[in-house]
Amino acid sequence: MSDVDLENGVPVEFVRREVLHIENVRKDFVHYARFRKHRGGDTTKCELCGIPFESDDCVSLVQVTGELNRYSCADCATKAIEFGAGAR
Ligand SMILES: [Zn+2]
Repeated sequence: MSDVDLENGVPVEFVRREVLHIENVRKDFVHYARFRKHRGGDTTKCELCGIPFESDDCVSLVQVTGELNRYSCADCATKAIEFGAGAR
């Protein structure tokens, strides 16, 4: 929750919603422990749903049309493939 003063405004929590066009998914691209070692701490959660990666997780690589690749959890990768993204 935000620190908005109730006398001056009502705190509103927004959930950002975006539509991504996912072309390809490389499911289970790399083990998170290894990924973290190579990438440092800059990616600590799924870049699609925001759930933090656990050290046992596998990170999937998601190719989004017109954007840089994103790293996702297995659930998001599975969902993207079910919705028609190519699996590599
Ligand atoms: Zn996810």
